[in-house]
Amino acid sequence: MENMISVPMKARVDVPLEGEVSRLLPDQVGNVAGAHNSELQQRLLESGGRRDTLGPLKKVYVFWLPGMSCDGCTVSTIGATEPSIEELLTGALPGVPVMVLHHYQFQMESGDHFTLLLEQADAGALDAPYILVYEGSISDEHLTVGAEPWAAKGSLPTWAPADQRQRRSTPEWVRRLAPGAAVTIAIGTCATWGGIPASLGNPTGAMSVMDFLGKDYRSSLGLPVVNVPGCPAIGDDFTEAVTMLLKYMNGQGPVPEFDELGRPAWQFGDTVHLHCPRGAWYEEGNFAREFGGKECLAEIGCWGPVVNCHITERGFINGKGGCMVAGGACIGCMSPGFPDKFTPFYKRPPQTTPATTLSRVHGALTKPLRRTTQLERNREPRWRSTTPSGWAPEYDNVTIAHRTFEYFYTRIQYFRSELPGRHEKDEEKYSSGYVVPPEAAYGKEYAAAAGSQSRRGSQARHPSTAGAVASSRRIRDAPSGRSGVVTDVLSEPAR
Ligand code: SF4
Ligand code: SF4
Repeated sequence: MENMISVPMKARVDVPLEGEVSRLLPDQVGNVAGAHNSELQQRLLESGGRRDTLGPLKKVYVFWLPGMSCDGCTVSTIGATEPSIEELLTGALPGVPVMVLHHYQFQMESGDHFTLLLEQADAGALDAPYILVYEGSISDEHLTVGAEPWAAKGSLPTWAPADQRQRRSTPEWVRRLAPGAAVTIAIGTCATWGGIPASLGNPTGAMSVMDFLGKDYRSSLGLPVVNVPGCPAIGDDFTEAVTMLLKYMNGQGPVPEFDELGRPAWQFGDTVHLHCPRGAWYEEGNFAREFGGKECLAEIGCWGPVVNCHITERGFINGKGGCMVAGGACIGCMSPGFPDKFTPFYKRPPQTTPATTLSRVHGALTKPLRRTTQLERNREPRWRSTTPSGWAPEYDNVTIAHRTFEYFYTRIQYFRSELPGRHEKDEEKYSSGYVVPPEAAYGKEYAAAAGSQSRRGSQARHPSTAGAVASSRRIRDAPSGRSGVVTDVLSEPAR
């Protein structure tokens, strides 16, 4: 029940409250609820018991403004699960105020009714603080043709006849609302750094929210612009950052940590390479020649080693997916230089050849050693003479070189360390004198070393393994159980 939404059972969103504005302005087209979203959430608050939640804040408005965007960040945010948008909208998280979302795709109301809340925020007439979210890059409205904005939201003043109204560009709304916002959040690479609309050529003069507001901008809580990049941003990155900010605003948590570019520091501290499921292929020098392979994608265009992103750790939706998991190379979509500084896509980045050459050298040295060690550690101690597998008779065909390598490897592995198994130590005896069943069955030899027990057991079942007797005797006669086991394991002749 990972995504379960916990709405208090007594909440009633179908019962109007007194003085709802939508009752006064009943001419909305297509509004099946007959109420504003903010009114529906107020009904939830009034009837749902959320007034009892921790902290002084019961609700916070979130104004989501679209600039020059593809709506991809909206889509990915809808898919967020940790936490989900629904959990934020219903106040299901303890200590987190209800999020009253004002979003162009989710609103019940339209036209002037939609613009009303924005006007109230601009006039400082809201009954709760607000967060401003901007999706898409901000256009330079000085470059528009015929005074029609590149991106707009509503027309003002609402009381004037239609021919006397003026379209309000989204940059203007940002100019009006950002100073009074508790926090301004740029979501997606277009809003955080400029993104695709701001790539070379840039006919609209597109820029990021930081570029637009300037480095001296501070929200009413004293925070610079918070940036959650990505093309699109990972939905969970956004909802998680908003949740932590809401907790902070509500006095239920510390101010979240952001890095020098305003990104949530815990999300963007590592490169995507560090958590990539293909990282070990890179380390052993195995590289895909074409997409569809399981190996590292560095030589067919992956920028992962130099891009700060944690999609390989978090996944994209519900912990699943993500570029390399789904077979894609990193094209740097979370980075400020995207897209121009990462083109041409799917061409080997310049730093790749020296790095992958070194990986190949490293892999050529380490892979044979690892495979030898792996072969030995893929064997039960009981299988020193034979492996009872009908699947692969050649499994036991280990070479002299392998035995020699394993001899030194095991010496190093157990140097100044305790060997596994039972040894002749007083502290390993039961003080009551109890004797464990294997020791009762095999006598003191069992206590000498685990290997002797297994060999004795094997011998008992397979009398034909005559060499086992001599081997067992060697263990018994060894000066200490420890060296006896090592000697025995390593001196087994290759078969
Ligand atoms: S696919 Fe990319 S991110 Fe993954 S290991 Fe290779 S270079 Fe690194
Ligand atoms: S791995 Fe690269 S392309 Fe994929 S989301 Fe992260 S930054 Fe963007």
